[in-house]
Amino acid sequence: MTKIFPLGGISGVTKNLFVYEHNDDMLVVDCGIGFPDETMPGVEFLIPDSQYLQDRLAQGATLHAIVLSHGHDDHIAALPYVLREIDVDVPIFGSPLTAEFAMTRMADNGVEKEVQYFEDDGVLEFGPFQVENIRITHSIPDTRHLVIRTPDGVFYHGSDFKLDLTPVDGIPSDLQRVAEIGREGVLCAAIDCLRIERPLPAASESSVGAAIREEMRDVEGKVLVTLMSSSIHRIQQAVDVAAEYGRKVAFIGRSVEQNVNTAMNMGLLDIPQDMKVNKRRMDDIPDSELCVIIAGSQGQPGSSLVRAVFGSHRMISVSKGDKIIFSSDAIPGSEKDVYRTINRIASQGIEVAYAEMNPGLHVSGHASEYEQMILLHLLQPEYVSRSVVRIAIASCSA
Ligand SMILES: [Zn+2]
Repeated sequence: MTKIFPLGGISGVTKNLFVYEHNDDMLVVDCGIGFPDETMPGVEFLIPDSQYLQDRLAQGATLHAIVLSHGHDDHIAALPYVLREIDVDVPIFGSPLTAEFAMTRMADNGVEKEVQYFEDDGVLEFGPFQVENIRITHSIPDTRHLVIRTPDGVFYHGSDFKLDLTPVDGIPSDLQRVAEIGREGVLCAAIDCLRIERPLPAASESSVGAAIREEMRDVEGKVLVTLMSSSIHRIQQAVDVAAEYGRKVAFIGRSVEQNVNTAMNMGLLDIPQDMKVNKRRMDDIPDSELCVIIAGSQGQPGSSLVRAVFGSHRMISVSKGDKIIFSSDAIPGSEKDVYRTINRIASQGIEVAYAEMNPGLHVSGHASEYEQMILLHLLQPEYVSRSVVRIAIASCSA
């Protein structure tokens, strides 16, 4: 019998780690961290509970591979900790960008380990499991859904996605392949249903540039844009808008700098060499010609943005005439930190723009009810997460 279960819990949206198990053979999908809330003072982040894997491995079961769906931290960043706990040499696979982000996260925590690239259209064999990856759009490039064939039938592992018809990189979701999988017959679909309460799709990620353009117009001083550091497509749009206004770009914050370097090296981010300013040379550029892309969109204490705003950053400070643009929303649990930061900015008389003022500054990376329905119609699975079925059926009969 094939079993599937999450070791990071089922009710939340982070700590993603799913185990597929058939007799003594196991496959893991994703290995992400979670984020603490105000009831967990002093906690930096949460990791999935790997005890089950440790127990099964001690009993002689085999973990064939860890397969990654995309490069968000809640899907990859627990790798160094879980790998240390389970203490087996297991191969890891992901799309090229996901693999590079995962290797960086591991190296940051003292684990030097290769993550192998998926081959396009390639099917990987792991004991009784066959794994195929399908391109799908989300708020980070190079995201995949996984088709996992087991002796009991086909599982469709639909991790985070939205059906973006005009993605920034022009690479659409491979819905043709999703439909073919549906015709083959799907036993069970496990699908991301964050934001399913929204009936209609959010705007395309490629629409965010227009909102950033609107906010960057007529700023006299420097512009700071803060966003999720993995939002490569949004960084591209911010850079493009900065170029239109004749501003050079500097990057501040470890995660932003790492991700920008990785994406540039892979050709996924296009920044003309003469536009990029070393953060140590920002003083050479007039404020009116500078755009700084800075980490800290969740108002995390100690982040680059918060230190800049509270006057304790070595390289950057803000003053009247500057403008700070939040191209992000507060993730649950971070609201107080975000609004404390926004209040501090406003109380210094510095202009600040955020999604509640200009909704175009952030779009969701997750599928609405309508997009869920499209995926389910293509897949026609025998089983699916109950909440998804309930809402999808309600829509179909409406
Ligand atoms: Zn995601």
